[in-house]
Amino acid sequence: MRRLVGRRQFLKGAGAVAVLGALDGCRFARGASGANAPRLQLSPLHAGVDRITRITVCTRPFRAQGPRLDVEIVGTKTVVHNYGHGGSGWSLSWGSGAIATANAMATGEHDIAVIGCGALGLTTALLLQRAGASVTIYAKDLPPNVRSSFATGLYTPSSRICLEEHATASFKHTWEQMARQSFQTYQSFLGLPGTPVEFVDSYSVFDDVPDRRRSSQPDGRPPFAELDQELIRDLFPRAVDFGPGSHSLGNRYLQRYSSLMFNLTAYARTLLADFRANGGKIEIAEFHAPAELSRLKEKTVVNATGYGARALFGDQSIIPVRGQLARTSPETDVNYGLFYKNVGFVPRRDGLVFQVAGENEYYGYNDETEAPDRAEAERAVNTIASLFAAA
Ligand SMILES: Cc1cc2nc3c(=O)[nH]c(=O)nc-3n(C[C@H](O)[C@H](O)[C@H](O)COP(=O)(O)OP(=O)(O)OC[C@H]3O[C@@H](n4cnc5c(N)ncnc54)[C@H](O)[C@@H]3O)c2cc1C
Repeated sequence: MRRLVGRRQFLKGAGAVAVLGALDGCRFARGASGANAPRLQLSPLHAGVDRITRITVCTRPFRAQGPRLDVEIVGTKTVVHNYGHGGSGWSLSWGSGAIATANAMATGEHDIAVIGCGALGLTTALLLQRAGASVTIYAKDLPPNVRSSFATGLYTPSSRICLEEHATASFKHTWEQMARQSFQTYQSFLGLPGTPVEFVDSYSVFDDVPDRRRSSQPDGRPPFAELDQELIRDLFPRAVDFGPGSHSLGNRYLQRYSSLMFNLTAYARTLLADFRANGGKIEIAEFHAPAELSRLKEKTVVNATGYGARALFGDQSIIPVRGQLARTSPETDVNYGLFYKNVGFVPRRDGLVFQVAGENEYYGYNDETEAPDRAEAERAVNTIASLFAAA
């Protein structure tokens, strides 16, 4: 059986446990003792709180019913919505952008405005250009100062994308198309200068054989949809288990899986450069109400304002889900990810990422505070560092 452990499971842990819960200790290969070296050697990570260079916080734009992708007439403008992608904005961007592009091109307009220059705005703008449109991006902020720039940087297409109760057959169909189209488009960024996108191995780490009785939603609130296993598990190679003695992280149990990682600094620059090379224009602009869109010369407007749509369009269905990253300087030898005790580590080339993922997807739910929490950052780094202190 193929098993997929995506970043969603990776960064919250519980999903990984659910996957591992189907296993027992016999599945984990044990290494030879004595003089024989373990078969899996991970380059030591020099993690320490004194190495923290930056703490970033942002709010995921979560909607219980999933992203808003409909078309609305606002005054004299046709507004094509493309926002509300929770923890999956980068992962679904190309597929979601394709839907917005089809809706925008259906208006017959050649000059199209895109409001927003995050994951959704940039990719939609590029797809519109490829469809023959002349595009101007209007945005308050540009990368690296948009919320998208503070994401973990993994392909996690069902991370906080909707509640399970809203994952209808129709939603799943659209989601699968978005996830697959995005995954395929990301392949075209592999191997480029600056390594905007790459595959890395990641390891879920457990002190004991995982307990199959643990639940991913222990507090009785409505569960978030988990779609990867059901709909796209063929996209990744099967996971590999390592028992105590077969690896360099002490007397623990590891499960290795493959992650598609976005080095967001290089990736966003690549997208911006492509957009400009195609003749795209960018104007810094802030809108405070939909009526202000009337000042644009374009009649068709794509709304890719992410969490900003809550204020701009008064969409109270957007719930902020706070997430914080602690960053340390890159280590060239460290090219693997880790998940241990509900903390994720991602080996980004533009700065190593440490993140407390919490017990479940409700971690950070309805929390719009964007002030850095130093104690949480140190907890994230110390948890991962403990794997190497004890190894
Ligand atoms: C901690 C964390 C980790 C994450 N990790 C991942 C991950 O690994 N993989 C993944 O796929 N997703 C991840 N996400 C989710 C992802 O970051 C979001 O889904 C994504 O950033 C949403 O992109 P966006 O383009 O819709 O919004 P934004 O990035 O917020 O961009 C919105 C744009 O609109 C502009 N704007 C907003 N309001 C206005 C206005 N009124 N007037 C003018 N301009 C305006 C902004 O300036 C900006 O340019 C993570 C999120 C968090 C918080």
